[in-house]
Amino acid sequence: MKNRVKMKFMNHHPLYKLVLGTIINPLNDKHCTVISKGGLVLKRGKNAEYKVCLIGSEKEAESYVQRSKDVERIELQGHALIPGFFDMHFHWVQDDVRLMPKDNLLNWLSQYTWPYEHKFQSKTYSKMRAKQFSKELLEVGTLGGAVYASIHPHSVSHALENFIGEFIVGNVLMTMNSPDYLTLSEKKSLDSVKELASEWKAKYCLTPRFAPTTSPRVMKEGRKISKGHKSFVQTHLSETENEIEYVLSLYKNIENFEDVDSYLEIYDRCGLLSKKTIMGHAIHLRDKEWKRMAQTQTAIAHCPTSNAPHNELGLGSGLFDFKKADRLKIPWALATDIGGGPFLSMIDVMRSFVDQNKKAKVSGATWTRALYRSTLAGAEILDLDKKHGNLNIGKFANFLVLPLPKQSDKISKREELLEKMFHRKLTDRESYSSLVKQTWYKGHMVFSKN
Ligand SMILES: [Zn+2]
Repeated sequence: MKNRVKMKFMNHHPLYKLVLGTIINPLNDKHCTVISKGGLVLKRGKNAEYKVCLIGSEKEAESYVQRSKDVERIELQGHALIPGFFDMHFHWVQDDVRLMPKDNLLNWLSQYTWPYEHKFQSKTYSKMRAKQFSKELLEVGTLGGAVYASIHPHSVSHALENFIGEFIVGNVLMTMNSPDYLTLSEKKSLDSVKELASEWKAKYCLTPRFAPTTSPRVMKEGRKISKGHKSFVQTHLSETENEIEYVLSLYKNIENFEDVDSYLEIYDRCGLLSKKTIMGHAIHLRDKEWKRMAQTQTAIAHCPTSNAPHNELGLGSGLFDFKKADRLKIPWALATDIGGGPFLSMIDVMRSFVDQNKKAKVSGATWTRALYRSTLAGAEILDLDKKHGNLNIGKFANFLVLPLPKQSDKISKREELLEKMFHRKLTDRESYSSLVKQTWYKGHMVFSKN
């Protein structure tokens, strides 16, 4: 895998970095290790990249490095250290339409989103926004995920060249039912897939915008081309009821799809379902579709803030049935879906997941689960969990520094601690974007709040 993001690190790189603070390490839906007065020892490897070589108490960490003379101490007591976030579905080219009126998904797309994406045809604008946006990602602690760019191939390269972390990115393929300025011919679309997939391999993601805008031929052929390069696939599925009706009515008139009776079946016939495929939303699925998702191990990106009611700045699409996904062992992870979602912080997404399920009286939407699904679960879907996703030994030292709640040492229950750290009122959601104090990537501080 190619990584064009060149990290400019300081000259001297000590062999070890000793990081002291309260460590919060998500392991799965039910388990998350909390070590108050904890320590991480990071060890320098190739290219001055650091991996975790010890996670334990402050004492254990101190004694591990006590004989070495080449140690940098990083004292973050009074703060929590958590792994960097994976945001598994967002549109980097929709940053400016996050807060536009969203009374109807299809109207919001055609009135605000598509005209804005048109701006990215300018390479200068796209590059300038990619640089700005990469900083916004670090500020909220997002260090990986699955990204939608615009139709313009350079918007993929600009993202991959500038974002720090483990991202897969795709240009949205739009060949029909789209405004002229966002429509590409089938040939041009397939040429872009050929070019980008061969350049970016597993960092490229074949991205039909959704079935209405992308011809079956482009989906099918695009998959054949990109599969050879081990690229991923992402698209939108069953976000709202009227979208499903619209999709099915369109495909009734498309050759070889006249008899299709579910949204997922369209993608299935184009060969898009696989372990390397991420479906955004998947809220209104029929039983048959759920089963097929499970059979093919197709993953779901769940975007609670985007699906939330209008008065919570979402599109009012409904509540994802995470329990059913779990029962069927379908991989899923959380995501912001900006601009459908209003804010870029994954902490706001965690809050929304917990709050919405609580309100609907669905049990099990814990903070522990939300944290796992915002970190390691994303890395698992991208097949990067051996090296990323949490702070286990042997993984890259990608972590965030956040304030601990007052008197945190007196809080013995993990859920209570996480709730105090992450929960804010609906009126206070903007404050999430300033919650992360520092962001570290491969053992180097890449963002620090003044
Ligand atoms: Zn989306």
